[in-house]
Amino acid sequence: MQKILLVFGLVLFFHSFLLAQDRKCGNNYIPAYFDQNFMQKAMQSSPTARLENQTYTIPIIFHLCYTESPTSATRQVSQAQIQSQIEVLNEDYNRFNADTSKTRPMFRSVAANANIRFELADIDPNGNLLAEKGIARHKISKGNWDIKSFRNTISTQTIFDPKQYLNIWVLDSLIEGGESYLGHAQFPDLSGLAGLEEKNGLETTDGVLILPRVLGSIRKIPNLPLSERFAYGRTLSHEIGHFLGLLHTFHDGNASCSRDADYCNDTPVLTSPSNRIFSCENDRIVCEKVAMHENFMDYTDDICMNMFTICQVQRMRWVLENSPRRKELLSSKVVTSGITARTELNIKIYPNPASDVLHIDFSNNLHINKTQILNLLGQSVWVSNQKQIENYVLNLPNLPKGIYFVHLETTQGLVVRKLIIE
Ligand SMILES: [Zn+2]
Repeated sequence: MQKILLVFGLVLFFHSFLLAQDRKCGNNYIPAYFDQNFMQKAMQSSPTARLENQTYTIPIIFHLCYTESPTSATRQVSQAQIQSQIEVLNEDYNRFNADTSKTRPMFRSVAANANIRFELADIDPNGNLLAEKGIARHKISKGNWDIKSFRNTISTQTIFDPKQYLNIWVLDSLIEGGESYLGHAQFPDLSGLAGLEEKNGLETTDGVLILPRVLGSIRKIPNLPLSERFAYGRTLSHEIGHFLGLLHTFHDGNASCSRDADYCNDTPVLTSPSNRIFSCENDRIVCEKVAMHENFMDYTDDICMNMFTICQVQRMRWVLENSPRRKELLSSKVVTSGITARTELNIKIYPNPASDVLHIDFSNNLHINKTQILNLLGQSVWVSNQKQIENYVLNLPNLPKGIYFVHLETTQGLVVRKLIIE
């Protein structure tokens, strides 16, 4: 009896050690009630047209929340690392990823292209160009957080309008109940989708959390300091799946072969996550079916993941068409045409919104050589090459109401300000 207990204790210890090393995303979720056809019903009852072939674009801002500590990994995150992550997302959400060839034959017919693109934001909520495309850096007081405290303090203090940006916070460490998490996502509200019936979070905390050691891909930048098993950028592909309404393909609790965990009939029922103890080359049989460990919403290592299914794509696009703060992202204007500019120079334009005149005030160590107004398409609608050495007033041309950008070519570089014309 004692011997058995001892063995059992060892197994438990070993199992929890493995779990601690395994993928953990913090979105463990047990749906309150179950209705397999909820999504299909919701989709049929909505008047919104579903545009199957349209590419949806989501602008992203990465909030790099670093500490003063020399060991703060978030502090070292580079623009190149962020860019490598964006490339991974655009591959995974368009089925351009090279490892689609690894999708096993029995799953190829349900593997699907989400047709969703991700772009780094160019401008901040005040209309100023970001010093680094898609990046806002914030020095914070500590590196270790639990999900709720981080969201209620740092997220709330730093969030950009969640109707204009997908906010992604990068932080050094996320520990909850003694377990380390790689990331966490806030589910969409009011999507009408099965499994997401409850209100999922506040507007002031909406977005994704992720650790720097799983951000980006060593397939793009070989020397990135990433966790070996999560080094291809798939953690963020997984978390954004949650942000767009996907559940785990496996049961987080109440495991049963007769109940689907994720309300998608094209993902086989899994009573437990697939992880490193199962090789991705081999078939693992669960509830008499082959487990789909290729799925981004399982818990396998990055090297095993390569697909979303048709149903998952339908759920994500449905959320983008219907859910508050998700649908608005599709018409966000925070991505411009890739201009770079000085943001720190002290130049004020007012009033804003304006109608007939615009005051431009600036510090006296500057000269302005050119003043130009561009529309949202980046087309010049007005220009003056008159040199300005002190504050001046523009008589605005007669322009349609809307959002414009004022480009000021100064002796210290280009300055861009957003202007609303009423
Ligand atoms: Zn997850």
